[in-house]
Amino acid sequence: MTVLNMLHKIREFIEKNKIRPSDCIYHTYRPVANRNKELKGEIRILVMNDNIARCEYICPECGKYDYLEKKWKRPFSVKCKNCGYLIRVPRMKDEIKRSKSGV
Ligand SMILES: [Zn+2]
Repeated sequence: MTVLNMLHKIREFIEKNKIRPSDCIYHTYRPVANRNKELKGEIRILVMNDNIARCEYICPECGKYDYLEKKWKRPFSVKCKNCGYLIRVPRMKDEIKRSKSGV
């Protein structure tokens, strides 16, 4: 199983609720780096009009998968439930464009 296949929860949420890109205020899917700046993890974030960030990730430090929902704010970061590593999600200029083609 690849890392990409492990991030399934948001994909299923999108399919089940027939979410279109126009329903989202933010949607990103990107690799994230560990302490040694190696891109060992992945994070996917979906924010709808309710301002709740639905977020799932593979921690780049410990490799554990988790899903959580929290209030959306920028800059966004997630603390790994397993090892406590803080996964930061930096701004990216093309993130809206990219996510639209990726849905
Ligand atoms: Zn971790």
